[in-house]
Amino acid sequence: MNIAVVGTGYVGLVTGTCLADTGNHVICVDIDEAKVAAMQRGEIPIYEPNLDTLFHRNIAAGRLGFTTDLQKAVDGSSVVFLALPTPPDEDGSADLSYVLGVADELGKMMTDYKVIVDKSTVPVGTADKVREAIAAHAAVDFDVVSNPEFLREGFAVDDFMKPDRIVVGCSGNRAAAIMTELYEPYTNESKPLILMDERSAELTKYASNSFLATKITFMNEIANFCELVGADVDTVRKGMGADPRIGSRFLYPGIGYGGSCFPKDVKALRKSASDVGYDFRVLTSVMNVNDDQKTILFDPMKEHFGGSLEGIKIAMWGLAFKPETDDIREAPSLYMIEKLLAAGAQIVAFDPEAMDNVKSKIGDVIDYKSREMDALDGADCLLICTEWAAFRTPDFNDMANRMNGKVIFDGRNLYDKGKMARLGWTYRSIGRPLNTAS
Ligand code: NAD
Repeated sequence: MNIAVVGTGYVGLVTGTCLADTGNHVICVDIDEAKVAAMQRGEIPIYEPNLDTLFHRNIAAGRLGFTTDLQKAVDGSSVVFLALPTPPDEDGSADLSYVLGVADELGKMMTDYKVIVDKSTVPVGTADKVREAIAAHAAVDFDVVSNPEFLREGFAVDDFMKPDRIVVGCSGNRAAAIMTELYEPYTNESKPLILMDERSAELTKYASNSFLATKITFMNEIANFCELVGADVDTVRKGMGADPRIGSRFLYPGIGYGGSCFPKDVKALRKSASDVGYDFRVLTSVMNVNDDQKTILFDPMKEHFGGSLEGIKIAMWGLAFKPETDDIREAPSLYMIEKLLAAGAQIVAFDPEAMDNVKSKIGDVIDYKSREMDALDGADCLLICTEWAAFRTPDFNDMANRMNGKVIFDGRNLYDKGKMARLGWTYRSIGRPLNTAS
């Protein structure tokens, strides 16, 4: 099929590249001219594991191209994906101006039947609004489909190629047949394409993300409680996760969820509910607990240093909101940086992928090192904010030699606390008894 993907960010680029890899001809559109020019030169604008091989292979095969010209992309395509931003407005609702703006343009451009597929995460009723925006100008038949995306940054290519399920919301048989054919290479009996109405599809995405955010948050509260009563969240987690009704995934406590999706989707679902008079109380609690959790290590740090962080040198490992991505949107690290700097601390940071993004956002208010060990030189403590694999088995002797103190505040519970005690580290993690070096 000939496909246009409008919006070439994390979702759009992965969608376009993966669809090209199964034999479709895909043209990706973006308004960001520099980004499009870079992609036309063969440069990938984001870090996503395994994407580069597919990206180059499909460009070389002539199945993947890039443009800023929406009309050109639309003219040759029978399916048009919208992978546009839906950032939160000030009141928490999803800003639909990108999606509806492009829908408006599409209506003026379409000269034959097309399926418009919304992959952005959008509130219930958006498919109707997209349909209205297109119909205001279009004189041809078209269908609007809601096809929310469930890929995870860091695993995006795998998730697209081997999805747990594909949700397609549409009301017309013609569009349903096209979507079923398009996704046929990625589905089977255990990885089904689930057809439903557009509103249910739109809500499925918000309900899934909000449920996952709730699961994480519940575990963070259990972890906080563990610390007060002398229980160990690691063993509690294992005991809980062995129950198949609960499952062992998403039970790892830490310094809160971040990223471009969970925070905004929880807010947007709560706002959609309040718009129809429903007070979604669980989500309000999830948001409040997660806000506190991002900086939960601040007070213990301050206490460790005698009540003041003035002049304390902190090495920080991990800036991305999670491993295997350069995405720093709503990253807990940024909230800690803000609080630590306000308290007079100095920060020297390392992240394998996200440092450029942090530099563009906050500049040189912190120092950056290109190797994790170099960030430790002369540091009074180490703070871990992201669970990159490279941080899991460091050389603790080398670390101790470089640092002023053998002190780690671990927001991701990377190390065995028994081992840390034996090695003589003061080791503060989340929901596990504190090791104090003797
Ligand atoms: P992104 O910010 O990475 O990319 C969006 C792209 O759209 C940018 O490149 C931007 O320049 C472009 N754009 C903006 N206006 C445009 C226009 N008028 N025409 C063409 N291009 C335009 O966003 P993303 O992370 O890919 O997310 C897109 C949507 O998918 C959001 O609704 C998001 O909630 C949802 N989603 C994201 C993820 C994820 O992990 N990132 C996962 C599932 C769903």
